[in-house]
Amino acid sequence: MLAWILAHAYYKKSSKNIPDWAKPLVEKLPKSRPTDSELLKIFEEALDTGSIVQDPVFGHVACPNCYAPASDFEEKGHTDLYSERTYVFVTCPHCGWSDGGEV
Ligand SMILES: [Zn+2]
Repeated sequence: MLAWILAHAYYKKSSKNIPDWAKPLVEKLPKSRPTDSELLKIFEEALDTGSIVQDPVFGHVACPNCYAPASDFEEKGHTDLYSERTYVFVTCPHCGWSDGGEV
């Protein structure tokens, strides 16, 4: 997902469609097309410095639908008492996208 945004930014040569949270990352991109490992390094540095937030359950950094940052997500947990399984759902408050699963 993140790699897609960065690659998209690179090809468009414009930051117009880049969400605010991704701009510091995009600015760090090398002039030539970065490799996947370079993208990963930029991504990990951004996580370390707190400039992006990763959803702790599913690892999303942003809504795949509207690119709202993961820090905006609403999380809900649910434990099934019969099976003793715990399910977690994250929802994007901006567009209603959600993801969920057993944790
Ligand atoms: Zn969204």
